[in-house]
Amino acid sequence: MFNKILIANRGEIAVRIIRACKELGVRSVAVYSEADREAMHTRLADESICIGPAASKLSYLNIPAIMSAAEVTDSEAIHPGYGFLAENSEFAEIVIESGYTWIGPTPESMRTMGDKVKAKAKMETAGVPLVPGSEGAVGSVDEAKEVARSTGFPLIIKAASGGGGRGMKIVHSEPALPNAFNMCQTEAGAAFGDDTVFIEKFLEEPRHIEVQVLGDTHGNLIHLYERECSMQRNNQKILEEAPSPSLDEETRQAICAAGLAAAKAVDYVGAGTVEFLVNPDNSFYFMEMNTRIQVEHPVTEWITGVDLIEWQIRVATGEKLAFTQKQIKMKGHAIECRINAEHPFKFTPSPGTVELYHAPGGRSVRVDSALYTGYRIPPHYDSMIGKIITHARDREKCIRRMQRAIDELAIIGVTTNIELHQRLLANPGFQSGSFNIHFLERWLDQLRV
Ligand code: ADP
Repeated sequence: MFNKILIANRGEIAVRIIRACKELGVRSVAVYSEADREAMHTRLADESICIGPAASKLSYLNIPAIMSAAEVTDSEAIHPGYGFLAENSEFAEIVIESGYTWIGPTPESMRTMGDKVKAKAKMETAGVPLVPGSEGAVGSVDEAKEVARSTGFPLIIKAASGGGGRGMKIVHSEPALPNAFNMCQTEAGAAFGDDTVFIEKFLEEPRHIEVQVLGDTHGNLIHLYERECSMQRNNQKILEEAPSPSLDEETRQAICAAGLAAAKAVDYVGAGTVEFLVNPDNSFYFMEMNTRIQVEHPVTEWITGVDLIEWQIRVATGEKLAFTQKQIKMKGHAIECRINAEHPFKFTPSPGTVELYHAPGGRSVRVDSALYTGYRIPPHYDSMIGKIITHARDREKCIRRMQRAIDELAIIGVTTNIELHQRLLANPGFQSGSFNIHFLERWLDQLRV
């Protein structure tokens, strides 16, 4: 086991990783920006070191500052969390070349999955179902028109290097195609330094379902079932659950097998997520792979009993997975609500001082957060300030448990989206378990009228 791990992140995920380190008997090093001097991760780690000013570019994205912190603290390994540098293959390479262990997949698999055109080509050879569309990159408007003849409209133009919901254009008819194509290409070049774009058929009513995978350096690779992540607004997930309430057993087996095949194709090591779009008829297509831990990993931990962060660290030391696919069983149902410091219906961010914080408790309630009474939420970072996770033997009981947990949660001093969760959990459409990625936005539109 490592002696000391540096955590190149902040907020609840940094706290989550510090907790795993403590349970493994590993010393933890937090890095923090000037805005995070009083942050929970800064306080909980065994050591903490300032890496720059508040702006992420100058701190949490500042590779030289993070590498210096690793050096002066004599850290052995670096855990990137999610966001910031987690999917930056150059950073992973620098970490490895400087003699540290990267707690994540190889830079090579990150690179392949980080380029959507390369990733799709790889998936095609692995037999993973793909959204119908162009074969690789599309270089001109004429080519785009050619592809449109087979996909039909609507279609979606995507930047190969895009991410975070950016670099995509939906096109509803042929006359709109030339403009949209040129714009997408230009914007992709400006935003990602790569103007490669490709085309997919636009699926109109899909669900977002993703498969958790975990691999070691000895060639063992397993899946840990799926998560339902269709409850989204602006491509931001708001509530996730496992298992998906809408999958029949046959589709579940098929989608998990496809997730595994996708990960195998890039010799995946560590924890990763393969995202799929699922049509109403249960046909599903590979969307992308996230080569890191995800925000919503706790729901999977709860139904499988596997500590994903602990295993990210263990496999990074070269340890073999201690369980086989057969030993991974789903037990009960888990739901996660993301708590954001933002207006529940207008979604305007609400940084400020938390005058009072009271976390829910009781049976089968987990709170992953970096909050405390008196904490000043800085305006510089993501508005997500914590997550409430509940577990129960079935979905109905799990929803009721979440309702009572959310009712117990008190955050005074800043505006949060607690009321959004209260209303969503009581919504018959959510309770029915049958919803797609448009459900939340359509419901919000109704609420406004
Ligand atoms: P990013 O890397 O920016 O997250 P993704 O390829 O994962 O981009 O797509 C983000 C979101 O865009 C998806 O969650 C889905 O809602 C929507 N989307 C992407 N591709 C399609 C498609 N072919 N049809 C319908 N929706 C899509």
